[in-house]
Amino acid sequence: MSNTFDLICIGGGSGGIATARRAAEYGAKVAVIENSRLGGTCVNVGCVPKKIFWYAANTAEALENAPIYGFNDVGNAASFNWRAFKKDRDAYITRLNGIYANNLEKDGITRIEGFAQFVDEQSIEVNGEIYQAKHIVIATGGKPFIPNIEGAEHGITSDDFFALAEQPKQAIIVGAGYIACELAGVLQALGTQCTLVVRKPRILRELDSDISESLEEAMREQGINLRLESEISSVSKQENGHLLVKLNNGDTLQSDCLLWATGRTPNVDALNLAATEVAQNDDTTITVDDYQNTNIPGIYALGDVTGQMDLTPVAIAAGRKLAARLFDDQPESKLDYENIPTVMFTHPPIGTVGLGAEEAIKTYGEDEITVYRAKFTPMARTFAAHKPKTLMKLICQGKAERVIGIQMIGDGVDEMLQGFAVAVKMGAAKADFDDTVAIHPTSAEELVTLR
Ligand code: FAD
Ligand code: NDP
Repeated sequence: MSNTFDLICIGGGSGGIATARRAAEYGAKVAVIENSRLGGTCVNVGCVPKKIFWYAANTAEALENAPIYGFNDVGNAASFNWRAFKKDRDAYITRLNGIYANNLEKDGITRIEGFAQFVDEQSIEVNGEIYQAKHIVIATGGKPFIPNIEGAEHGITSDDFFALAEQPKQAIIVGAGYIACELAGVLQALGTQCTLVVRKPRILRELDSDISESLEEAMREQGINLRLESEISSVSKQENGHLLVKLNNGDTLQSDCLLWATGRTPNVDALNLAATEVAQNDDTTITVDDYQNTNIPGIYALGDVTGQMDLTPVAIAAGRKLAARLFDDQPESKLDYENIPTVMFTHPPIGTVGLGAEEAIKTYGEDEITVYRAKFTPMARTFAAHKPKTLMKLICQGKAERVIGIQMIGDGVDEMLQGFAVAVKMGAAKADFDDTVAIHPTSAEELVTLR
């Protein structure tokens, strides 16, 4: 086997595999280097196991509500069998790892197992072997960040969470981002008593505040203990195995599980970037331009390692666009990072595309922005034990009322958003929404009947 390729992708996750497969489709000779399981974060310790957990949590909620709809003998969430669930979930992921391997083989892509290290700007070493390519894509993703706090090592990260053999009875989750809020919702629904420790006055503070406040309300109603404006000063393990967590205000919390969901850092340490002149940002993510070019010709970066927007479809889309530019004579091919929709699989889920109200006002000025809003108890929850509200907002700009943001929280918004995101991307105005006949009875109809 020759060790010279048209393209080498470092990282066999969402971005690396998508780039490699699309380039191979265009006829390029491609290799993928991966030191761990194929599929990367998303498949192994991210979107996939998380979403399966989310379905389990939704099932627990449905069981709780079943008697209200006349099903009297269906058991309850307390009988959730964590071990059996984990076994099936792990087996599903192993199947996905196999599918990824087969796809690479089918596409004629060389799979190299091990850690990639740059030797120079065209050469990479893996297990003592040198590989070269005209084009090298860095798609090495990221890893959980743990703050430097006394006793932090007693806590776990989201990677470890998916490996837990037993369900914790209580969990302290630190952070207020996607992972903290999603895993708190899942665990609480499955019967673990959760405490969320948040250093700022609110969760998901990058979001429209109306939406994050609604999630706070829903979390409290679900029974999650929210400790806002709290920081952990130390963690210690007691003789009974429980963790003692001290907060900066002097309070102490006890738990059998502490989960750091305090952000992620790019996987760059093992790459030996020092052998190249590849530029990095202050947070060590790799600097790229609009076309995923680094400052070194022939070296590109995409996905979480660039810190552009840490989402699987973003890494995939950036990779496919890059492959088209490099190997299909499409010189202008690049990902448009505007109006990327995103869903948080919280309880209930959140869906957003474009700007939130505060951000829109900051960008365009108050006079330019009209916000349409509806907050209601969805029909699906009329009889339910918990009734988290649905909130929908259209953020419109100018006289033409172009829709520049949709912000939603509520049952079903996770599946609702994709189609509406097409409308936003196409530049739809409020009048276009109004001209679309509603589907009844749904929650989605509110978006085309807002006044
Ligand atoms: P990755 O998928 O992380 O792939 C990078 C790969 O590179 C890894 O397999 C790694 O082992 C390998 N690697 C690293 N260094 C080297 C090296 N030196 N040599 C060889 N190989 C190397 N996104 C969504 O869109 N929806 C979700 O619901 C969602 N849920 C998430 C839940 C959790 C808990 C987490 C942590 C993330 C979630 N994400 C979600 C984010 C998503 O997983 C990432 O944005 C996506 O995986 C990024 O893809 P990537 O290709 O950049 O990196
Ligand atoms: P986020 O950046 O979303 O959130 C990190 C959180 O950690 C913030 O709330 C931050 O607080 C807090 N934090 C950081 N440092 C500390 C500290 N020292 N002490 C206490 N709190 C701290 O990161 P996540 O790890 O949750 O997720 C990473 C990315 O993965 C997301 O941004 C998202 O792009 C992706 N992801 C996507 C999902 C999806 O699509 N559904 C699901 C999960 C992840 P503060 O707000 O105060 O800064």
